[in-house]
Amino acid sequence: MTPPEGPLPLGATIGILGGGQLGRMSAMAAARLGYRTHVFAPDADSPGMQVATTHTRADYADTQALARFAAAVDVVTFEFENVPAATLAALEGRVPCRPGLGVLAIGQDRLEEKRFLERAGVPVAPWAPVHDESGLAAALERIGLPAVLKTTRLGYDGRGQAVLRDPADAAAAFARLQPKPLVLEAFVPFVAEVSAIVARGADGAVAVYDVTENIHRHHILDLSFAPARIPPVVAEAARGHVRRLAESLGLVGLMALEMFLLADGTLLGNEIAPRPHNSGHWTMDACACGQFEQHVRAVAGLPLGDPARHADAVMGNLVGPEGLAAWTGLLAAPGVAPHWYGKAEAREGRKLGHANLLMPLDSLAARPAGWRPPVFAG
Ligand code: AMP
Repeated sequence: MTPPEGPLPLGATIGILGGGQLGRMSAMAAARLGYRTHVFAPDADSPGMQVATTHTRADYADTQALARFAAAVDVVTFEFENVPAATLAALEGRVPCRPGLGVLAIGQDRLEEKRFLERAGVPVAPWAPVHDESGLAAALERIGLPAVLKTTRLGYDGRGQAVLRDPADAAAAFARLQPKPLVLEAFVPFVAEVSAIVARGADGAVAVYDVTENIHRHHILDLSFAPARIPPVVAEAARGHVRRLAESLGLVGLMALEMFLLADGTLLGNEIAPRPHNSGHWTMDACACGQFEQHVRAVAGLPLGDPARHADAVMGNLVGPEGLAAWTGLLAAPGVAPHWYGKAEAREGRKLGHANLLMPLDSLAARPAGWRPPVFAG
């Protein structure tokens, strides 16, 4: 449905598909701006439901529940990109959806994502679609080893991929990875992983945050450093990439682009997320307008906020039982802004919260290689 002209009035309701922490923090930002929220998710007592004004607990395929949800909200957004496309399609005819189905679909399919990145002028590592074993042999011939074989749908946090170093690894990896088709990518010898976040408003205005440098542990984001320690020309290129993506999609909402940085300064696009992103959590405390507020502003048709960074920041994810154990200490640490997600169990590998360590502006540039703030030790 065509969105209304102008901003949503105060007191209007933003529908959020998905009940995870990203929906929770979006709902909290929406409340600050005077909006109600309605979370739609299948899981009970999800982090988003705990803070939303109201919620619907139903399956994404429940058409009756979706119809009621559409009638109860003024605009719909999503907080995770694996919401079934059919769910957003069912809503789009009834209520404005921001971002829309076209943007969701690109974020759901690695092949579409790579084609889109290339069309928008963001280089990616050499890749080939893999539908069957003979296709894998042809792709290996072309791309060589080492390479990474990935699922094209439903993969996250490193699940659904295998690094191939030897031709003998290929058949077992192909058999294991589901669902098909897969994609084979050249293994990228990156020197850093960075990401950039952009918001685009209903009026076409664009706001881009400073580029973030990301360190992973066991395939899960561990620390984000803002700003990334990269030459200004590389940072500008990264910001330009994400700005072009938002403009070429006509995005109304927020989007993150994860990139690999090569030793010669080349950036290769890896993954797009058309929603707030873990690597942007530092913006909540180090910018006047953090990514969740920015997301809400875009979706609600408000003017975008100021994305300028007023402090350097290190974001540490609190994962699993170790994250729970670190919580009390972080509450007492100077300069630390803690965020807890309210998940029921501290299961291994689960993101339970995060904390932003704020530091004086431009102080992070002097950090030694491999530095880890003591407050996030172990
Ligand atoms: P992804 O699920 O694509 O975000 O990949 C998860 C992580 O695996 C990335 O953050 C990288 O650390 C690593 N990775 C993914 N693709 C490649 C690649 N083509 N070359 C090297 N490392 C990769």
